[in-house]
Amino acid sequence: MATIAFIGLGNMGSGMCANLAKAGHDVRAFDLSADAVQRAVSNGASAATSAAEAVSGADAIVTMLPAGKHVRAVYEGEIFDAAAAGTVIMDCSTIDVATAKSVGEAATAKGFHFVDAPVSGGVAAADAGTLTFMVGGPEAAFAKAEPFLSNMGKAVIHAGDAGTGQAAKICNNMLLAITMIGTCEAFALADKLGLDRQNFFDISSKASGQSWSMTSYCPVPGPVETSPANRDYKPGFATAMMLKDLKLAMDSAAAAGASTPLGAQAEALYAMFDNLGGREADFSGIFKLIDGSWKA
Ligand code: NAD
Repeated sequence: MATIAFIGLGNMGSGMCANLAKAGHDVRAFDLSADAVQRAVSNGASAATSAAEAVSGADAIVTMLPAGKHVRAVYEGEIFDAAAAGTVIMDCSTIDVATAKSVGEAATAKGFHFVDAPVSGGVAAADAGTLTFMVGGPEAAFAKAEPFLSNMGKAVIHAGDAGTGQAAKICNNMLLAITMIGTCEAFALADKLGLDRQNFFDISSKASGQSWSMTSYCPVPGPVETSPANRDYKPGFATAMMLKDLKLAMDSAAAAGASTPLGAQAEALYAMFDNLGGREADFSGIFKLIDGSWKA
């Protein structure tokens, strides 16, 4: 069993940290929020008072932070100085490809085994230990990170060199945004046509309209018990986070010369939902914008 530093104990990090402790590791938890650290302690971790303290002497480090600027600050400000060369480092945050590449390459040059390892699956999968990890970095670093990631997930897939985990993640989340909006439109139309929501779900979830957005994260209350729709769209995966990922996808598309017209539409709709007060709501709450019932 290993000593693991876990930094970033929010909606996702909380369950991931708990699963590493459950697997028998000695986990040192740090977050800027004292409440989040306290929750981690009640789930089997020990408290650290800074990122530097958490990583000092650790065998492995996991970070689960909001965006690229937080990742850069924590790595360049604390981790690179306080961690020992040879430490296995997994950044599971969703961030821009350029930051992932530059932090990853700097870490490798300093002798760390670093991978970018963003996740898919949401809070329910983080809690259940059934995330999918998309991993970028050298083959040797992937081999060292894989057992730790397996403690938190059901699938760990190597995508290629530094930054490719993030590239896979933003492509995936652009597709998720598009299928979520499409699923919301279908339920809004089904309502107008007088279909029962559960009945439409029973049909479409077994027909060609099926997607994760429908069967695991249905945007209307009722059919899928764990959906944020059943908790008045409390996240889950906040609209602000989805908008962040869509901006990353659109920036990458522009840089690469890719044509992504539905991704651009999805970004515009999520920006509108954000401006209308949906920022803190789950991203599936865009159903209410589409059916006209949204009130901030
Ligand atoms: P969150 O905002 O709930 O958690 C982020 C945590 O990081 C917070 O607790 C915050 O206090 C902490 N933090 C920020 N700066 C810090 C610092 N300098 N030192 C220590 N802690 C710091 O976000 P989340 O929903 O857990 O998402 C985390 C990442 O995972 C994001 O990049 C997000 O895009 C990605 N993600 C989220 C989901 C989801 O369903 N929520 C799914 C897949 C991927």
